Amino acid sequence: MFIDRGRSVAIIGAGAVGVCCANYLRDAGFDVVIIDPVEPGDPQQCSYGNAGGLSPGSCIPNAMPGILRELPGLLLDPEGPVSLRLLDLPHALPWLLRFLWSSRASRAGEIADAMIELNRLTFEFYQPLVAQAGCKDLIQYRGQLFVYEDPIAPSRATLSTKMRRDRGVRVELLDESQLRELEPSLSPAYKAGLFLPEQGQCVNPGRLIASLWQLAAQKGARQLRTKAKGFAFGQNGPVSILTDDGPVSADFFVVAAGVCSAPLARQLAVHVPLIAERGYHVVLENTDVGLRANTCCAARRFVAAQMEGGLRVTGTAEFAKPSAPPRWERAEMLVRQAKFMFPSLSATSVHRWMGSRPSTPDSIPVIERTPRYSNAILAFGHGHQGLMAASTTGKLVSQLVAGETTRIDLSPYRSSRF
Ligand SMILES: Cc1cc2nc3c(=O)[nH]c(=O)nc-3n(C[C@H](O)[C@H](O)[C@H](O)COP(=O)(O)OP(=O)(O)OC[C@H]3O[C@@H](n4cnc5c(N)ncnc54)[C@H](O)[C@@H]3O)c2cc1C
Repeated sequence: MFIDRGRSVAIIGAGAVGVCCANYLRDAGFDVVIIDPVEPGDPQQCSYGNAGGLSPGSCIPNAMPGILRELPGLLLDPEGPVSLRLLDLPHALPWLLRFLWSSRASRAGEIADAMIELNRLTFEFYQPLVAQAGCKDLIQYRGQLFVYEDPIAPSRATLSTKMRRDRGVRVELLDESQLRELEPSLSPAYKAGLFLPEQGQCVNPGRLIASLWQLAAQKGARQLRTKAKGFAFGQNGPVSILTDDGPVSADFFVVAAGVCSAPLARQLAVHVPLIAERGYHVVLENTDVGLRANTCCAARRFVAAQMEGGLRVTGTAEFAKPSAPPRWERAEMLVRQAKFMFPSLSATSVHRWMGSRPSTPDSIPVIERTPRYSNAILAFGHGHQGLMAASTTGKLVSQLVAGETTRIDLSPYRSSRF
């Protein structure tokens, strides 16, 4: 039951999700403090280094039917998109088993519905924020492209194309000449493509998060540069967040701490199987090959995107303990893949980055008021889609805190599904 408690909200985490929550909560008239030891837009955040894809049509789960047959090949290929060291297997196994379980056909359809329901609103809830923040230029509407070396592969990708089209997403099949016409800089090795014209891209995710935080701060939100360690509880639930610099009291609490959210949620009596699904990027600085669409090599599952400052190539799903050191050879692999995709590329200065996707086994985040405490809200686990889903999540969280009817039905995002 919703109890009208007061107007102050403390958010843990100032990544894409946290800053969008901060904006929409301020717009709804709440006092907002955000707790995070790092600045919004900092390279330590997962939100900084992603591929920038903003895809309202994104609805393909990571665990598609048939993944069990595919997984051994993906894992054994040293240049493949998935990486798991034997050492990390015990840590990852329970999550991986749930991941595989979520790939059954009936569940994949439900997941696709939940994904698109959230992602389809991405522009609707980003547009007012970027307009107010004066950074509309950061969001561009260039479409999303999947490219294939095998000319008949796109016509074989029937299940994903059907899943998209069933949910109203426009998908165009491109032959070799149409592909060349759309993206002339691509290697002639690519013979076909699938083009999704209604998708978009952020050309500098770090600047987006920093700008949206500046906006929230102008509206009166404050940041405390400290780490949240847990909660202090009163009779009706949490009353303050315990931090390295003392307790922070509030009426409502939002956990949006990305990959570090699960232990905080556990203190609120919610157990979520969350893993650090590490990814890498390389930015080939000051490089512009004229790429327009956010372009994914379908077989190798890496994404190339023209960003402010250079060509960014992102990829890899690496299941490792968060404390494990980065494996920079994964980033070197992305440089090789970029050179394959764009033969004219001459990379001189390369910037490398690693970040941890906060991933649930079923590709859907947890967005809910906790079952036990009506003043605690969870907003994490956005996996591969956290940039695109952040704007809508921010709006939904503000509606949950205000006790309003949420824009979409939140039952698919409840933690009780685990
Ligand atoms: C290679 C790669 C490519 C990707 N491509 C895309 C894409 O194209 N499109 C897309 O939508 N998504 C993409 N993603 C996913 C997306 O980046 C993430 O889902 C998203 O950034 C998650 O946002 P977040 O706010 O939950 O987490 P984060 O950005 O990680 O922010 C969490 C914040 O919480 C803070 N925090 C953690 N613990 C505490 C604590 N105890 N106290 C206080 N603060 C704390 C951290 O310091 C951090 O600032 C990609 C990810 C990777 C790695």
